[in-house]
Amino acid sequence: TFNFSAGPAALPVPVLEKIRDEMLVLPGAGASILEISHRSKPFEAIIAAAEANLRSLLSIPDEYAVLFLQGGSRLQFSMIPMNLAPGGASADYLITGTWGKSALDEAKKIGPARVAYSSAESNFDRLPTPDQLDLDPNAAYLHYTCNETIQGVQFATEPKTGDVPLVCDASSDFLHRPLTIGHYGLLYACAQKNAGPAGVTVVIIDKKLLERSADNLPGYLNYKIHADNDSLWNTPPTFAIYVLKLVTDWLKDDIGGLDKMYQQNKTKAEMLYEVLDAYPAFYQGHAQPACRSLMNVTFRLPSDDLTAKFLAEAKEHNLADLKGHRSVGGIRASIYNAMPVEGVVTLRNFMDKFANANA
Ligand code: PLP
Repeated sequence: TFNFSAGPAALPVPVLEKIRDEMLVLPGAGASILEISHRSKPFEAIIAAAEANLRSLLSIPDEYAVLFLQGGSRLQFSMIPMNLAPGGASADYLITGTWGKSALDEAKKIGPARVAYSSAESNFDRLPTPDQLDLDPNAAYLHYTCNETIQGVQFATEPKTGDVPLVCDASSDFLHRPLTIGHYGLLYACAQKNAGPAGVTVVIIDKKLLERSADNLPGYLNYKIHADNDSLWNTPPTFAIYVLKLVTDWLKDDIGGLDKMYQQNKTKAEMLYEVLDAYPAFYQGHAQPACRSLMNVTFRLPSDDLTAKFLAEAKEHNLADLKGHRSVGGIRASIYNAMPVEGVVTLRNFMDKFANANA
């Protein structure tokens, strides 16, 4: 079955096979990854390799710390304002979908947060042009969501923020293409779409920003403490970090890096958008064409009955988890890194046939 779930999402098959092969006894450790200490040599080697893989795939400069945290991306919605906007400083937010709105709502519980752009009026189907941004030049940071998982809108490049540090929720498109990490103050992503299983969240932070973390923050919520302790201040999610290491091995060794991954992702997304555009009266894409996501393809059919029929028949073709989020309706095909081209071809052919039979 091809799993089009928005997350937790499918993992690459070679990674699953490796987990199966190493589950009882991790080579060199004499026990399972689930049983060894996070302070043991074998685990130290795993977390160091996971970080090295991320640094190599994304060319992360030495001036940035890489943290492996728990609490999912939602905990970042709170940790970011707690750490980066101390003393009542105000932060700016771009609201281009459900997740950006959730990040803003959490930030407001901590301190002042402004909306520098929102596409709520059009149900988050678009992204801002540079002249639509109402930026505060003194903001503590500007937060945005580079890929809105529910609406399927994605920034192709980062918004320009001048001297204000850019904070990016990259949860649903992390590692789908190369990035210039130097453009960001902080970039974070829960692992369960492109990087591994649920349980670990990657935070890449400019070390200069660590100076903002106040000593009186609760220890777990303080970025500086995690950076000073190489993400081993408390017991980290050892299994999730181990799988993240395997996924990043796969990206490096099997795929050949993020340029190659990006090419594959563009090819996969183009196949589905081509079908939408071939039947514009039947498949109505949610995102405006200029900001279509390469990861989450969202569209509606002419009626609820046809949507139900589409989902039922898709299942018969081994195409699973295609139901759209209730706030957008219709269909959402999440085609993360691990979705093979073959899965997308199967879906494209099914959509083609379904439109011909029902339009
Ligand atoms: N941000 C984005 C863009 C997401 O897609 C999600 C989850 O799907 C989250 C944040 C929340 O992540 P978590 O469930 O790990 O807290």
